[in-house]
Amino acid sequence: MLCPKCNTPLVPDDGRMNSTVTSLKVKPSSSRSESSHMEVNEDLCVGCGLCARECPQHAIAIIDKKAHIDFSKCICCQICAETCRKGAIKIL
Ligand code: SF4
Ligand code: SF4
Repeated sequence: MLCPKCNTPLVPDDGRMNSTVTSLKVKPSSSRSESSHMEVNEDLCVGCGLCARECPQHAIAIIDKKAHIDFSKCICCQICAETCRKGAIKIL
């Protein structure tokens, strides 16, 4: 497309626009959930069981007074992290 007043091209015609668009491609929204998981800091966990009671997936077991997450059940809803008063569970 040319400028109607000076006839200068308004859009670069050397492929730069295409390379810019390519670099802005967004990762699929599922990429975070595939790599994220919950982690229990055993130094902070006191084994109170509050997270296990609140987990909607029943994915947490208290073993030897520490919370253990079954990743085959966990859906990373983060309710356990919000529930834990010790800040022992985080999403990574
Ligand atoms: S709520 Fe926190 S301190 Fe209590 S068992 Fe779960 S991770 Fe441990
Ligand atoms: S993130 Fe949700 S599903 Fe996973 S262990 Fe915590 S409360 Fe349960």
